[in-house]
Amino acid sequence: MVRSLSQWTKTLSFPNRHSKECNVNVHPIQPPPTPLRNKINSSTPSSSPPSSPQNVNVPITEISQIIYPDPDSEKVIMGSLVFCIHHKEGCKWSDELRKLKAHLNTCKFDASPCPNLCNAQIPRVMMSDHLAFTCTLRRAFCEFCNVEFSGQGLEEHAGFCNQEPIYCESKCGTRVLRGRMSIHKAKDCLKRLKKCQHCQREFSVDTLSLHASTCPRSPIPCPQRCEAPLLVRSELDAHLREECKALAVSCSFKDAGCRFKGPRNLLDSHLESNSSSHLSLMVQLSAKQSQQIASLKSAVAKLSTNYTGTLLWKITDWHAKMAEAKTKMGLELVSPAFYTSQYGYKLQASVFLNGNGPGENTHLSVYIKVLPGEYDALLKWPFSHSVTFTLFEQCSHGGGAQGGVAESFVPDPSWENFQRPSTEPDSLGFGFPRFISHELLSRRPFIRDDTVFLRIKVDPSKIVAV
Ligand SMILES: [Zn+2]
Ligand SMILES: [Zn+2]
Ligand SMILES: [Zn+2]
Ligand SMILES: [Zn+2]
Ligand SMILES: [Zn+2]
Ligand SMILES: [Zn+2]
Ligand SMILES: [Zn+2]
Repeated sequence: MVRSLSQWTKTLSFPNRHSKECNVNVHPIQPPPTPLRNKINSSTPSSSPPSSPQNVNVPITEISQIIYPDPDSEKVIMGSLVFCIHHKEGCKWSDELRKLKAHLNTCKFDASPCPNLCNAQIPRVMMSDHLAFTCTLRRAFCEFCNVEFSGQGLEEHAGFCNQEPIYCESKCGTRVLRGRMSIHKAKDCLKRLKKCQHCQREFSVDTLSLHASTCPRSPIPCPQRCEAPLLVRSELDAHLREECKALAVSCSFKDAGCRFKGPRNLLDSHLESNSSSHLSLMVQLSAKQSQQIASLKSAVAKLSTNYTGTLLWKITDWHAKMAEAKTKMGLELVSPAFYTSQYGYKLQASVFLNGNGPGENTHLSVYIKVLPGEYDALLKWPFSHSVTFTLFEQCSHGGGAQGGVAESFVPDPSWENFQRPSTEPDSLGFGFPRFISHELLSRRPFIRDDTVFLRIKVDPSKIVAV
C-alpha cells in the first residue's frame, strides 16, 4: 500500500542542532493551490519570512506544496534532518527528510487500520502477517477439512476439526482422524481392554495373546497325549501326577533297584507279577543299608574316641553294681576303650568291684589290657608306657578333688600281657588286685552321689613308676 506524502499525517519535528545549520527559508513563494490546514509555524505570521525556524512543526502536506516551486530549496529541505513522525510514540529513527518515506515502510510505529475492517491498527511490517494469520475477519481455509472460516472462526475450529489426524489418546502410537477416534478406541486400538475369554480378566489387546499362553484357565491338551479331554492349564500338574494314563511312571520299588517304567495303567500288573523279585531287591537294599549303618557307627565311634592317653572313668550306680559283684563271682566292669595317642596303642581298663584273686571280697581290683588297635602294625612292641591308676576322693562342697589313691607300673618287657595283642579280644589284663580295700573305700569320700571316678593315665615319657 502506497501512501502519498500528505497521508503521512501530522507533524514532523526537526532536531534542534540541525535545524539551525540548515537555515532553510521556508515561505510561500506563491499562494498554495489548496488552502492551508495548518500554518508552518502558527506563531509566525506567514507574511514575515522566518529566517531560522526552530522546532518547527511542519505538516508534510504543506512542506511539499511549499517547496516544489524552488528545486534548490526542495533539495535543501529534503536534506534536512528529521525525526520519524512516530518519534513521540517511541520510534528512534532520525535521518534526512527524503528518507522518511522509505523508513515509514518499515517503521513499526507506523500503524494503519486493517483493510478487513477488524478495527485493529497494524504496523506496516506486520500487516501481511496480520492479514494472513491473525486478523479475526480474514478468510481462511482449515487445512484439514478445507472448510472456509473467518479468522476467529478458524481459531475456534482449531482443535475440533474432525478431519485433523491426531495421535490416539490411549497411546497406541496410531494417528487417527479426530472424528474417528471413538470408533478407533472401541474397535481397532491395540490399547483397548478386552476380557480373556477363559479367566475373564481384562487385558489390553496387545498383551492378550501373551496372556493366552499363560492363562491358568485356558484349555490345553495333555502333553502326554493321553485320552483325557482338554485340560485347564492350572490343573495339568495334578493330572500328570495323579491321573494321566499315558505318562510313564516308575515302579514304586525304584529305589530298591527295579528299572520298570511305563504307563500308569500297567503299573498294577507289573507289581503283581514281580512281587518276588521286588522282595529280593528289598533284601539286598536292607543288607546294603546295614553296612552303611555299621560304617556310620564306626565313624561316629571314631569321632568320639579318646586319643589323649588319659581316661577319666566315671562309674555310676556304684552300690547296685557292688551288690551285683558280691553275688556274681568274677564280675568285671570294663571301661570305654581309649588310645594313648591318635595313632597309638588301644587300651581298656577293667575293675572287679568285689576284688579278684588276692583281693577277692576285700579289695577293689583294677587292671589295664592292650586291645588290638588300628595302628598296631606300626607300633613298638612290647607296650612299655607307664600306667597310673588314680581313684579320686570327692569333695562335698564343690572344692574339687582332694586326693586319692594312686598306683602305677612300668611294663616289664618280658610280660606277656604287653606283647602285640592278637585279634582275640579277651587277652589278659595287668594291674593291682588289691588296689584299695573296701574298708578304706567306705572310710574316705571316694563315693559320692553313688559315683566313683577312676583315672587311668598312660605316660610314654615316664620310665619309672610312681
Ligand atoms: Zn518510525
Ligand atoms: Zn484485520
Ligand atoms: Zn477443519
Ligand atoms: Zn489407539
Ligand atoms: Zn485368561
Ligand atoms: Zn494325560
Ligand atoms: Zn518294579
